[in-house]
Amino acid sequence: MGMKGKLLIIGFGPGSFEHITKRAKEAIEESDVVIGYNTYVDLISGLLTGQKIVRTGMTEEVSRAQEAVRQAEAGKKVAVISSGDAGVYGMAGLVYEVLIEKGWTEATGVEVEVIPGISAINSCSSLLGAPVMHDACTISLSDHLTPWEIIAKRIEAAGAADFVIALYNPRSGRRTRQIVEAQRILLKYRSPDTPVGIVKSAYRDREQVVITTLEQMLDHEIGMLTTVIIGNSATFLYDEKMITPRGYQRKYTLTAEEQALKPHQRLKPEAEPWALPQFEEEAPRAADIRSAVNIQPAAEMRPAAGMRPAAADTQPAAHVHSAASKPSAYELAMEALLLVQGSRGVEVNHSPVTNPLFGQQSIFEVAVSPGVANKRFTPGQMMLMAELAGESGEIEYTPHHQIILRVPTTEPKQITARLQAEGLLLAPIGDVVQLKACDFCNGEKDESIPYAEELYQRLNGRSAPKELRIGFNGCGMTCYGAVKEDIGIVYRRGKFDLFLGAKTVGRNAHSGQPVAEGIEPEELVETVERIVNRYISDGFPNERFHKYFKRVKQVEGFEHREVPVLVIDNAVCGD
Ligand code: SAH
Repeated sequence: MGMKGKLLIIGFGPGSFEHITKRAKEAIEESDVVIGYNTYVDLISGLLTGQKIVRTGMTEEVSRAQEAVRQAEAGKKVAVISSGDAGVYGMAGLVYEVLIEKGWTEATGVEVEVIPGISAINSCSSLLGAPVMHDACTISLSDHLTPWEIIAKRIEAAGAADFVIALYNPRSGRRTRQIVEAQRILLKYRSPDTPVGIVKSAYRDREQVVITTLEQMLDHEIGMLTTVIIGNSATFLYDEKMITPRGYQRKYTLTAEEQALKPHQRLKPEAEPWALPQFEEEAPRAADIRSAVNIQPAAEMRPAAGMRPAAADTQPAAHVHSAASKPSAYELAMEALLLVQGSRGVEVNHSPVTNPLFGQQSIFEVAVSPGVANKRFTPGQMMLMAELAGESGEIEYTPHHQIILRVPTTEPKQITARLQAEGLLLAPIGDVVQLKACDFCNGEKDESIPYAEELYQRLNGRSAPKELRIGFNGCGMTCYGAVKEDIGIVYRRGKFDLFLGAKTVGRNAHSGQPVAEGIEPEELVETVERIVNRYISDGFPNERFHKYFKRVKQVEGFEHREVPVLVIDNAVCGD
């Protein structure tokens, strides 16, 4: 064999010379032959210094790769150019495939150098803000070389697992249905208002950047030169930028100069209850997570296994699993999935719709009540609940005067519509704000009901670091126990008294501290809302309100006072 040539497989980035790497530029300069798709050759023509050019059409990738190998074997330095990165739907793999076919090895064959470039997922996201940030994937919608069935499965999987998704090759003249189908699949898993960024010709002439939503993405131009980036369930818009936060639950307070959690604290297990336990002993934490989000262990979500075992019904879910029954990786993955879906702040808390990947039947779970003040179910409402629960669902009465309905279903919307049509009030359960009002002496003491209703409207169901119970009682008798809740509100002589930080369970349970008396009615809702907002933003994940209040010592101007230390040890459940 004569002088050996070399294959330079080059990704030249999005298109502008400012975003090409130094090595890619040099490699083009040092090559004898440049091979590429017409448009790409045009894009880099400014870098050419007399090389021989082999232009090909877009679909001639294989012949392009074969030609490159031939020329290199004939002793030439051959630059094979791809836009973005050559290893991302580019020429790199194809060139290797042609080489392998010929029995190439690194030791005996022509030299190969793959030169990395900025791929569209990176260039496009830089123009949108910071939409990637978290776990992300790229999916090409081109079904020329990949069966649509596989592409659809990947969209499905990425949708279910809450990946940020960059769709490459989203649409061409002939392939127009793929993007419509992709949107349809993703809407099964993500809210219609999920932010979506559409970038055409990033860092090239005629660059276009559009920020829209999953629901409206098809109203915009999408073509061959476009990348579509779909946000995850936490992605938000700010000042026309698409931002995906680093984590699902903020472990940092962006406005505070000093972070509540120091770096070493942030990494502690209690600051990240969702993490995979590192040591055997920590295994029960998975069950804690389960109880925290009110989900069934995955194994028990299967219809065959039915609902939780009856014996465990009165126990918090955390005790269904002992340390001995360590959750499987599958269960943990399901939990992560459920956590993710639960964090979306949807109208009602429910397990995800059937996940086609796991063939999982899911259970829709919701707190049901006849009203904020009204405590009386009608026979019609009871019958409807019984009908919906059927043989495989259940109706549970909780220690917090809640009726929880659990229904195995894939159509939660139909269930909620029927319950609401029957006049029932629905509320999510789990780590959310839950307002419990008294019955206002069967409505006789009704002056303060509008305040309870407004608080319910504004706060009930909002995600919180831990379940947050607000008790609202219409007179100083507080017979529904407002002072025993995290936040207690008592209406008395036309004004409101406020109690904060009760410890609701345990042998060392205590009522809340009276922090204010005689709050003017027009100030009440706003005051409580401020306290709740503060707790939501500054509370550590899983930190109960009374612990939070004790830690921060002061919330929205209300001081925490140390209560005399009780000599009673708290006992764990069952002790
Ligand atoms: N190797 C390339 C991808 C080639 S597939 C890379 O790593 O970026 C072609 C697809 O890439 C296009 O359909 C489009 O979805 C995306 N793409 C490539 N360059 C782009 C650019 N400058 N702006 C927007 N999308 C681009």
